[in-house]
Amino acid sequence: MKKLYIKTYGCQMNVYDSARMADLLAPLGYAPSEKAEDADMVVLNTCHIREKAAEKVYSELGRLRKIKSERKAKGHPMVIAVAGCVAQAEGAEMIARQPAVDIVVGPQSYHRLPEMIARIARGSGHALETDFPAEDKFDHLPEEQRVEGVTAFLTVQEGCDKFCTFCVVPYTRGAEFSRPVIEIEREARRLTLSGAREITLLGQNVNAYRGEGPDGTRWTLAQLIHRLARIDGMKRLRYTTSHPRDMNDDLIAAHQEVETLMPYLHLPVQSGSDRILKAMNRGHSRDDYLKIIERIRVARPDIALSSDFIVGFPGETDTDYEATLELVREAKFAQAFSFKYSPRPGTPAAAVARQIPDDVKSARLTILQTLLAEQQRDFNDGCRGKVLPVLFERPGRKDGQAVGRSPYLQPVHVAGAEKLIGEIREVRIASVLPNSLKGVLATDVSAAPIMAIAH
Ligand code: SAM
Ligand code: SF4
Repeated sequence: MKKLYIKTYGCQMNVYDSARMADLLAPLGYAPSEKAEDADMVVLNTCHIREKAAEKVYSELGRLRKIKSERKAKGHPMVIAVAGCVAQAEGAEMIARQPAVDIVVGPQSYHRLPEMIARIARGSGHALETDFPAEDKFDHLPEEQRVEGVTAFLTVQEGCDKFCTFCVVPYTRGAEFSRPVIEIEREARRLTLSGAREITLLGQNVNAYRGEGPDGTRWTLAQLIHRLARIDGMKRLRYTTSHPRDMNDDLIAAHQEVETLMPYLHLPVQSGSDRILKAMNRGHSRDDYLKIIERIRVARPDIALSSDFIVGFPGETDTDYEATLELVREAKFAQAFSFKYSPRPGTPAAAVARQIPDDVKSARLTILQTLLAEQQRDFNDGCRGKVLPVLFERPGRKDGQAVGRSPYLQPVHVAGAEKLIGEIREVRIASVLPNSLKGVLATDVSAAPIMAIAH
């Protein structure tokens, strides 16, 4: 048995891709390894979204180079492959910068890994594949999926045609492509049969989904969700990441109609300033965004909203930044991710002269993150005393404890629930920590002293 070590950077789609690469390499005799030192093959599945993410890859490659030569000295060869968006963006330059790299493979070409490994074994130097489109990949991936937990990711849509001026995704992942409904349904059934109870449908713009339906027409994400909700044993559905421009009426209605669709929506807005939204080429205004979330809240009043923000986009003034804070105060988020703008080579915003100094970006980010953290705490505080259905996912740190997720994606720690992993149980929320909740099984509540529930 050979050993395979995969290190994943970045988004959930990379997590999905890494699992598929492991599926692909299993028939070649590669079993997963926890450490690079033990591995005959190492894959770095990389992220190019911000400069820091890309730079981390090169420092990891430096570490791997040493391990590779130590192994070689002991007669154990090691193949190093770089996959993902840095591989796509930098291609052959990666090998020039770090010659220990054997394989460079883009996110739409990793189904070719087995033949690339064979080429390397025959001594043909380095192997490079950075072709599009995604169709080929899905046609060639093996059907088997290893499910390690009760939650699973399923990629339904890839790529992006939106070309936000700050973003590398349209260049690294290619054009928008949606997988056919039947193929997705088959994968979802297999995941459910092997133990998944919650599936998150993934796409760079998942709500732009327009895959071929069983009737030959193009189906929307809402239609796909209605279809998948019928699968026996699948208890929860989620989807991410959505774009405000594609938040259609039927998807909003699905939040009211589909019981298994969880009340959580990640809908990035990036900025609250119309001027900046235009410069970002987002294709929607601040008002459009607020109206969308108003409609979602009518359909599903308890929905937990999440978003992404970029501060310090080129030309962002204090007034623009204030507009972002104002939008946050108005929208009220349950959770959010915020970043300093990072100029990415080849994107239009990187070429703009009026870049914002790093100290200004940092100061803006700190204030925004403080506000977002307050909102997250308020949302979590609102759950205190409520009874929420929790899907238990894994053992906790303490004996007998289990950690699950609420419908709103909050981690919930419950004592004495370890045997319930894979099940959904009612939990009364007893206390709120900064990023998670603590609760008591509702069935235990009547037996437990009231004080134990209250603090
Ligand atoms: N497709 C999603 C959308 O339209 O919002 C987002 C995909 S992107 C992988 C995830 C997040 O990274 C974005 O929402 C954005 O906030 C952030 N991001 C993308 N490019 C960035 C950049 N150049 N600098 C800082 N953050 C960036
Ligand atoms: Fe990037 Fe914009 Fe496409 Fe999202 S919609 S992946 S931010 S280009």
